Amino acid sequence: MIIDGHIHISEGPVDPTGLVERMQAAGVDGGALFSLPPSAFIRLGQPHTTPERLDNLFAWVKNAPTLYPVFWIDPLEPDAIDQVAVASQRGVLGYKVICNRFYPGEPAALRVFKAIAPTGKPIFFHSGILWDGQDSSRYNRPAEFEALLDVDQVRFSLAHVSWPWCDEHIAVYGKLRHARSRRPELAVEMFVDLTPGTPPIYRQEVLAKLFTVGYEVERNVFFGTDCSTGDYNVNWAREWIERDNHIYRQLGLTPETIEQIYALNVKRFLAVA
Ligand SMILES: [Zn+2]
Repeated sequence: MIIDGHIHISEGPVDPTGLVERMQAAGVDGGALFSLPPSAFIRLGQPHTTPERLDNLFAWVKNAPTLYPVFWIDPLEPDAIDQVAVASQRGVLGYKVICNRFYPGEPAALRVFKAIAPTGKPIFFHSGILWDGQDSSRYNRPAEFEALLDVDQVRFSLAHVSWPWCDEHIAVYGKLRHARSRRPELAVEMFVDLTPGTPPIYRQEVLAKLFTVGYEVERNVFFGTDCSTGDYNVNWAREWIERDNHIYRQLGLTPETIEQIYALNVKRFLAVA
């Protein structure tokens, strides 16, 4: 089974049946769907309100049990904490955050993360170079996410193995695991979202480092594509799966570990059966 942990809902008609068909053509059985973006990410056209974005998100997943709803939240919006409450009541399974103009440790953002953590839902963060045409990548360096050590019970992922700061990403992962042994009361858990960002020439190096560094990563790494609902890119998804599988064979990963990477870990992250 393959679950895609990183799919963006795009503007346009809601067509879960068509999406699931395209995903199946790529060998993908389900995925986490990120809602339409909050207004800070809209360059052209009208931004959507929170209720509109939630309605659209739930229209996508309504009759598709393997599509998991994730609400994209901008923690600097003044009503962000209310949005967490509303989205949680609607039944979202996670939150998506892109730090486009603030550090993860910005106090206003931390307040929102502290509102999310007790709901038991995870946060999918972007990390690494941010291709938004703005001066923004510095907010997405992995070490900045150490600020989440102050958010009790938070479960979060950093996408793209934070390319090009993959070494830093792996080091932060190691630090957070170690922090739990130093502070047993700490319930902070980080996941590695393998969604490309890492160009093909870096992939072998990144996966080799991740799986041989000596940290326990087997239960905390998940697959994703960054495809969009409007045009789920079957060939792109297939190519990445093939490339990764080839590398996993070279690294000698067990079938159990590979099953965890493709499905079980993201399900554990989302807390779904
Ligand atoms: Zn993305």
